[in-house]
Amino acid sequence: KKVSDRYLKREVLGEGTYGVVYKAIDTQTGQTVAIKKIRLGKQKEGINFTALREIKILKELKDPNIIELIDAFPHKGNLHLVFEFMETDLEAVIRDRNIFLSPADIKSYLQMTLKGLAYCHKKWVLHRDMKPNNLLIGPNGQLKLADFGLARIFGSPDRRFTHQRSGVPYVEFVFARWYRSPELLFGTKQYGSGVDVWAAACIFAELLLRRPFLQGSSDIDQLGKIFAAFGTPTPSQWPDLVYLPDYVEYQFVPAPPLRSLFPMASDDALDLLSKMFTYDPKARISVKQALEHRYFSSAPLPTEPYKLPRPA
Ligand code: ADP
Repeated sequence: KKVSDRYLKREVLGEGTYGVVYKAIDTQTGQTVAIKKIRLGKQKEGINFTALREIKILKELKDPNIIELIDAFPHKGNLHLVFEFMETDLEAVIRDRNIFLSPADIKSYLQMTLKGLAYCHKKWVLHRDMKPNNLLIGPNGQLKLADFGLARIFGSPDRRFTHQRSGVPYVEFVFARWYRSPELLFGTKQYGSGVDVWAAACIFAELLLRRPFLQGSSDIDQLGKIFAAFGTPTPSQWPDLVYLPDYVEYQFVPAPPLRSLFPMASDDALDLLSKMFTYDPKARISVKQALEHRYFSSAPLPTEPYKLPRPA
């Protein structure tokens, strides 16, 4: 029985990618929840079976580092997705100038991010829209990935509802540009879990720098920022590059030492970062391998979540 009177609406939390987000109380459990109201647009028949099947998969994703999709129901032509309520997000933490992030704190935030990703990749679900404001932080400091798989089902902000394919809003480009991997920027159609690893690397870099690392102003400029940081990819580094749909030859740019971009990072941190920022998605470290990297077992150990600094 999926009736909207199970939830008592409270204030609006914000306008998101897919529509308005409300705070609400689940009268069945007394739990505070966040409800995302997704406009179904002009889809007369409502949400189709593909989308419903995918939402069912998301409801089955249960992990301490994934935000739980508690419920999903249509109401007045909108789809409502009910999530556990979270206090803040990683973007707010990174931006807060009153917060000092120690190397152990950064390690803890990255580890929780990768653990959430590892769980989903194990179940063959990609996130595809990893960015700091999709990493929510709960009352006990636990970081949880939000919006898992939604990019695939509902499309992304920039090209949302531009194409329709069998009734599902469909987009080629899902990622927030600054977190987009080079293979996506080169127009690959067959991408895999590597896109989430690249995005996680951008978030790792952002934790170290306290500002977004590769801030491109267009897709071309984004590639330019990537090349300036890591050098233009050579055929030996990335053999399949020349076969990508949007491949064009670029003027050679050498890579500066990674150390010069991250003067404060430890050797272990830099080693992991460089493996996550590998050009060739086939050679890029997997999330599982990243979690086994000595960065996570060497001192300082990751801060326990409840001890992590958070915005006041
Ligand atoms: P965006 O698409 O821009 O990432 P969202 O749709 O995820 O935004 O969310 C819009 C607003 O609702 C944001 O201010 C976000 O902080 C808030 N929000 C989203 N999910 C939750 C949640 N589970 N708990 C608390 N607040 C949330």
